[in-house]
Amino acid sequence: MSNNNYTVLNEKFQKPDLDDRQYRYIQLPNNLKALLIHDPTVDKSAAALDVNIGAFEDPEELPGLAHFCEHLLFMGSKKFPDENEYASYLSKHGGASNAYTSSQNTNYYFYVNSEHLYNALDRFSGFFTGPLFNKDSTDKEINAVDSENKKNLQNDIWRIYQLDKCLSNFDHPYHKFSTGNLTTLGTNPTSKGLNIRDELLKFYNEYYSANLMKLCIIGREDLDTLSDWAYDLFKDVPNNNNREVPYYPERVLNRDFFEKIIKVKPVKDIKKLEISFEVPDMDEHWESKPSHFLSHLIGHEGSGSLLAYLKKLGWANELSAGGLTISRGNAYFSVNIDLTEKGLQNYVEVVHLIFQYIELLKNSLPQDWIFTELANISRANFKFKQKGSPSSTVSALAKKLSKDFIPIANILSTELFTKNEPEKIIEFTKSLRYDKSRFMLISREMITDSQEKWYGTEYSVMEYPDELLQLVQNPGLNSHLHLPHPNEFVANNFTVNKIEDVTPLNEPYLLQDNANGKLWYKKDDRFWQPRGYIYISLKLPHTHASILTSMLSTLYVQLVNDSLKDLEYDASCANLRVSFVKISQGLDITLTGFNEKLTTLLARFLDGIKNFKLDRDRFDIFKDKTVRHLNNLMYEVPYGQMYTIYNSLTSEISWSTREKLDVTKQLTFEQLQNFIPTIYQEMYSEILVHGNLKYEEAMQIDSLLDVMRGDAINHSQVDNIRMRSYIIPNAKTFRYETLLNDEKNVNSCIQHVTQLDVYTEELSAMSGLFAQMIHEPCFNILRTKEQLGYVVFSSSLNNHGTANIRILVQSEHSTPYLEWRIDAFYKVFGTMLSSMTEKNFKRHKDALCKNLLEKYKNMNEESSRYTAAIYLGDYNFLHRQKKAELVQKLTKEEMVAFYERYINGPQATKLVIHLKSQAENKKLDEESELDTNIYPSGILIDDVRQFKSASFLAPIRQPSKQFEIYKPTK
Ligand SMILES: [Zn+2]
Repeated sequence: MSNNNYTVLNEKFQKPDLDDRQYRYIQLPNNLKALLIHDPTVDKSAAALDVNIGAFEDPEELPGLAHFCEHLLFMGSKKFPDENEYASYLSKHGGASNAYTSSQNTNYYFYVNSEHLYNALDRFSGFFTGPLFNKDSTDKEINAVDSENKKNLQNDIWRIYQLDKCLSNFDHPYHKFSTGNLTTLGTNPTSKGLNIRDELLKFYNEYYSANLMKLCIIGREDLDTLSDWAYDLFKDVPNNNNREVPYYPERVLNRDFFEKIIKVKPVKDIKKLEISFEVPDMDEHWESKPSHFLSHLIGHEGSGSLLAYLKKLGWANELSAGGLTISRGNAYFSVNIDLTEKGLQNYVEVVHLIFQYIELLKNSLPQDWIFTELANISRANFKFKQKGSPSSTVSALAKKLSKDFIPIANILSTELFTKNEPEKIIEFTKSLRYDKSRFMLISREMITDSQEKWYGTEYSVMEYPDELLQLVQNPGLNSHLHLPHPNEFVANNFTVNKIEDVTPLNEPYLLQDNANGKLWYKKDDRFWQPRGYIYISLKLPHTHASILTSMLSTLYVQLVNDSLKDLEYDASCANLRVSFVKISQGLDITLTGFNEKLTTLLARFLDGIKNFKLDRDRFDIFKDKTVRHLNNLMYEVPYGQMYTIYNSLTSEISWSTREKLDVTKQLTFEQLQNFIPTIYQEMYSEILVHGNLKYEEAMQIDSLLDVMRGDAINHSQVDNIRMRSYIIPNAKTFRYETLLNDEKNVNSCIQHVTQLDVYTEELSAMSGLFAQMIHEPCFNILRTKEQLGYVVFSSSLNNHGTANIRILVQSEHSTPYLEWRIDAFYKVFGTMLSSMTEKNFKRHKDALCKNLLEKYKNMNEESSRYTAAIYLGDYNFLHRQKKAELVQKLTKEEMVAFYERYINGPQATKLVIHLKSQAENKKLDEESELDTNIYPSGILIDDVRQFKSASFLAPIRQPSKQFEIYKPTK
């Protein structure tokens, strides 16, 4: 089939059972290919374009050029020259966008309210038909790239990844540095007489060729319309002589790099062993997935597994294994292990055990039943696959389309195991050889002699010592290691009794309400999937009575999870998820997955909790792990620490990371032993059962909990335990300052919170609309124009009792300077608001309401909406619907009054948190206009406890209405 404009390549796709979308794959005259997806039910339409070119093509002397090019495509095109047009259009119509540059792909995507797809696509296509690369934008945006790189500098994942790259063959582009910074894209090229804008254009014209691009669009329009749009808007993307996808024949690792131990000093207090093997690239064997097969076995956590034995020895806590294709023909298989102190000391023996497990596999594979089990699980997952977010769907598909060895009819179903290739499994297993391996040993105690160029990571390299070589050359077998048993949690029964023509309910029923607790239930009436969701919130006053019992509870939960790892892991292989976590008011258990075995899993899990036996060795290991974890939290990226700091200032029951650390260091085995019997002494449960589960099953789930209730004192006094928030005194600004722990991090961070008042639905509507209106100008002014830093965001912030607006910026600038710029932004926004046209004002309201009223895409979204209302205790299951109604009624005058009262007037109430870098401030000259008499502003909080004890608490949210007990009619 073909018309004059485009050729239809395919219309028949292997799809999940419940997938009601239509698909079509077309080719435009310029050889750009597009996958079009018609879904009349989507609220958000989306599109993605993937270019099969990435950082591997950076010129050797210009690291980061591909990434910089990605940033600049956002900054205006011939058709839409305004630097901010794309972002501002999307923001006004309920959308957003993003992009990433990887080794061989650059991927751009956006989503937008469905009625605005064409206009958004029109702006998007300008990226590929005629970007401007304005000199002014180029000069400014280089700072965003530099800031993005500085954000990663102290991050161990980036550091270790780059170190691996640097220690590889220089004839393969894997060794390059891909983010770029001011030096590689600014000062260096300038000093060599290169014009960076010319280089960008050269790169773009050379590589952004239509034949290397895959477009994917999802929208409500029919396939003919979407095809026409793709043609209209993308037919003019230039084709540079059908440029080929680059291929790199050289090895990433050659002889010089094998049999090496790379010792690495991390920023955080982590202890790891990461071993990599060079393996055959099996990407084209996507139907049998030998690499996935091996990672299933080596990464297994059940009895007989490598991890189970390492844990038994007290040498490791976590293990993961997996394969990675670096470029066609070049692939790694890696095993990553989180070691304990003892494991680090015995690292030679740990490596020996890895090889013993591989020896076991070499002796016993292939095992057809394992392939069959994986194939059955993958088939069930695919058959009942639920819809995900449109933008991630199109982004992933556009990238996958660049793998042209996958027949287009199978592009939606690549996760299936459709072909058993035992000989490939054997070949892959045989390739896991010591003389094709190397490993990193990561710990702060490592002795190093070299420094990596881009991140400054300290490391040293040594040969495999003889002692190790002897062990891995002839590893032998170990009787503690064996293959996994068949998985009992694989579901077989997927029966769903669909009822036609029902209107879905928007609230769960209340089945029980007594001294034990509340039981909520909703039979799925929307998705007709064989899935279930069980949420059990145990309110336990003892778990957070003090910092001591809180930290004991944290340890307890980790140790219980550790003891039930077998069960959790087996379930997770069959895609049943169970989680047991500590929250601010007790402990939560959540289960999701195919409903058939969900109740069995719950019963086994509850038994496991009930029969938990505390073990002294495990206690020591997990105490050490928790201490290291708390220590490491203080080395997180600055903006990642803000939530905890804010919480410790405003929440009734909360402690700073340092306080938690001090207490945890002193915990003893006996304290935990004495504490455990008290945990469930007073208990109140709130349960939600949702999905393909019957009324009787919901009642049965509630009675399963009797195991936990035992002789506990159940009483409804506990039911209202909920954390409250402190109210910042009205018309005042408070300031909290703290230094960043990591002396080498150059970034500071500010969180500027404007407290509105005690939470009400009306305020939530106004703050929601205000946040919608400032979102894009805040980003445009503070990041794009002023280039304060890569991380800039704004939002409404409703905690347990107050409504707030916040702006957060992470930057190399000092925090008083950032405070000044945020204040200045708010002033500018005041003018923008008062001059906003009614039409634009209405657009913002519509965009927000569309977001609030967005349909559920899958069952999990619906479950978590109910869970949130139960957690908050207002049982306001219709919160979003009511909020949208309130937003629709708001007038511009009301929002101007809101601005004057809460944001900019004398009554404004603020809490400004300054998280300050200890590094020398290199931006001082740019800050000369800062009035240090005004900034930093506010009353300094120098004693947090005293500040909190002098403040009022906001009331918690109250139930939104009375619920009757539901009895099913026979
Ligand atoms: Zn970037």
